[in-house]
Amino acid sequence: MKTIDIRTGRPYQVHIGSGIFSRAGEYVRSVLPGAVRAAVITDSNVGPLYLKEAEKALAGAGLEVISMTIKAGEESKNIGSFAEVLSFLAAGHITRSDCVIALGGGVVGDLAGFAAASYLRGIPYVQIPTSLLAMVDSSVGGKTAVDLPEGKNLAGAFHQPAVVVCDPQLLDTLPENVFRDGCAEVIKYGVLDDREMFDHLAEKGMGFDRESVIARCIEIKGDYVSRDELDNGDRMKLNLGHTFGHAIEAASDFTVTHGQAVAAGMCIIARASAGKDICTSLCAGSIEECVRRFRLPAGTGRSAAELAGYVGSDKKRRGDAISLIVPEMIGKCGIIKVPVQDTMEWLRKGLSDECDN
Ligand code: NAD
Repeated sequence: MKTIDIRTGRPYQVHIGSGIFSRAGEYVRSVLPGAVRAAVITDSNVGPLYLKEAEKALAGAGLEVISMTIKAGEESKNIGSFAEVLSFLAAGHITRSDCVIALGGGVVGDLAGFAAASYLRGIPYVQIPTSLLAMVDSSVGGKTAVDLPEGKNLAGAFHQPAVVVCDPQLLDTLPENVFRDGCAEVIKYGVLDDREMFDHLAEKGMGFDRESVIARCIEIKGDYVSRDELDNGDRMKLNLGHTFGHAIEAASDFTVTHGQAVAAGMCIIARASAGKDICTSLCAGSIEECVRRFRLPAGTGRSAAELAGYVGSDKKRRGDAISLIVPEMIGKCGIIKVPVQDTMEWLRKGLSDECDN
């Protein structure tokens, strides 16, 4: 069992440990002593598995529990569901001293978090992540959002949780392909900041030590978030693999999953960085090898020209420039600002050994 402090404007803790889910009520109570009611938001896959136990844990800490189950999947992360959650909170007479509990993966976390950020101009919420991606990424850092028809995560708010309760045992029921997807983010943290963890992942593959690796990922994310809560500087590094990854996702009309796209995006930027002598080809090669060890894709069959179009419309674009996160060695990455028209050349280098452009 480990506790990590996230030093944001309003600091909070992430508790990580196998079996701590049954003590969720105590963790909520310790940070929200005045709460009377807890509104649990979950989805149609997670609810049948864990809602009863969550209700029991929360009731055991003296909370009155109401719950709402949304349909599982990204399609639910929209303005319609957002409005439904707000109405549910209002109908349940949730007040400012009560709280929202997000019990699920990143979809539930982002949706419930955004509802908590805006209901009554902001009420506390607690993250109980149940997917690997939610544990190592979305439950920490306070980014909440819903998708618009025009694009992903276009409406949202920064709203840090009151506490995060992360129990790796909940991953036992996560479908293997969803777990594998989350592994792309885990590898990312190794490349970004931790050579030792990267080596462990490269050696063990999917059999990595879950509790210690998840805790280390949260520690790394927590450091970036504490330094740059509103994502104006260093936090950008968490975007490693994502700029080209988002382009791959969009070009495939989202048939390539986020994790697959991030894995491929990371390999593309690593090969391009090696081509520009920012890192060695040995470094790029070991990233690629690690990604393949997890049976994630190290490339895409698409051309640089096709992907470049999508990079140009990336949400992270500022004026005519885009910030690329480049590996310098395993455990250390840099940020390079590149004119949008130059991304084509980066893509060509990164794709050079897989397709002819
Ligand atoms: P998800 O929430 O859709 O979960 C994936 C699938 O796994 C769903 O079908 C879900 O029902 C199921 N599931 C989750 N936990 C389970 C469990 N323990 N047992 C069985 N099934 C389980 O997707 P995700 O990959 O967790 O998150 C993706 C979302 O996170 C995207 O919307 C993305 O935009 C968002 N995200 C947000 C941040 C952030 O900082 N806020 C960061 C990264 C991603």
